[in-house]
Amino acid sequence: MPALYRQRLQALRGQLERHRVEAFLVTHLPNIFYLCGFTGSSGALLVEPDSATLITDRRYTTQARDEVHLARVRIASRGLLEAVAGLLAGRRRLTLAFEAAHVTVAQRAELARRLGRRVRLRGVAGWVEALRARKDADELERMRAAAALASQVWTEVLPLVRPGVRELELAAEIEYRMRRAGASGPAFDTIVASGPRAALPHGRATAKPLQKNELVVFDWGAILRGYCSDLTRTVFLGRAPARIRKWYDAVREAQQAAFAMLRPGVAAKAVDAAARGVLRQHGLARYFTHSTGHGLGLEVHEEPRLARGQKTRLEAGQVVTIEPGVYLPGIGGIRIEDDLAIAPGGATQLTHAPRELLEL
Ligand code: ZN
Ligand code: ZN
Repeated sequence: MPALYRQRLQALRGQLERHRVEAFLVTHLPNIFYLCGFTGSSGALLVEPDSATLITDRRYTTQARDEVHLARVRIASRGLLEAVAGLLAGRRRLTLAFEAAHVTVAQRAELARRLGRRVRLRGVAGWVEALRARKDADELERMRAAAALASQVWTEVLPLVRPGVRELELAAEIEYRMRRAGASGPAFDTIVASGPRAALPHGRATAKPLQKNELVVFDWGAILRGYCSDLTRTVFLGRAPARIRKWYDAVREAQQAAFAMLRPGVAAKAVDAAARGVLRQHGLARYFTHSTGHGLGLEVHEEPRLARGQKTRLEAGQVVTIEPGVYLPGIGGIRIEDDLAIAPGGATQLTHAPRELLEL
């Protein structure tokens, strides 16, 4: 385990060196977890060329000493930023990089005030996220388990899906079963969207009861040992009319086309274009209103994004979702989402719930 953290810190120090920065303040909690193993809800990690210090508060004294690898632990008696300033006091001039997307304007002002003129602040983005995009063997194992858990829960919940049951009850069943199976929680608020609500790509579950002859979109995922899964399935309550079948088959075909593109070296936008192209052939492109997929890991949305205009190339070790969908206002929506790991020769599917249109 420490070897893993050593590698990650080393790679990050390479970034510091390349950008001529003497210290880097990590404040985004998933990044802190990735770099030193700390799971508390309050902390900052100061990374320097030959040391790393985790600063947290008194609630986490014991937990930090148990969890943290390769970093000293400092308990801040007042604020975290005051403690950061304390650690850097008395140093010669230096540049401190901070995570621009994860520091508020007020925090930046406080840092500037406490650090004074000797320390130059530089907002940076994506340094740790770039490392996190490529999963190592241990991370892939965790992600496979998180995906298997969420897939298994689907088979348990399916028999409960019938007219009269409320969206919220099904969301609760999914989340309860994921926890019982060992998940530390859902990766995001479970989506259950039925009937016309299924046309909302992110329709959170409501008290609406399911009705006959409706499409129902389920989007759920588990966090297991820190890592997320993310799946979507769409069912029809009753016998699906021909046009629903046609739409469903088009979405499945779009997903298949995107799967076939997944291998190292392919541009992210090409995967998106493959799914979009299939839906265009079926006259459905304008109903596909979001991107084809996203990276997955410690967070449910990470690098790379599989969307229009994304030129970054896929790399082995990345885990992505493929989730084309069509949303027809007033009628409903259809989305199918699976998680895949990019491997040298192609991609391996991590989720295993059946993909045929289920008519319940
Ligand atoms: Zn999802
Ligand atoms: Zn997703």
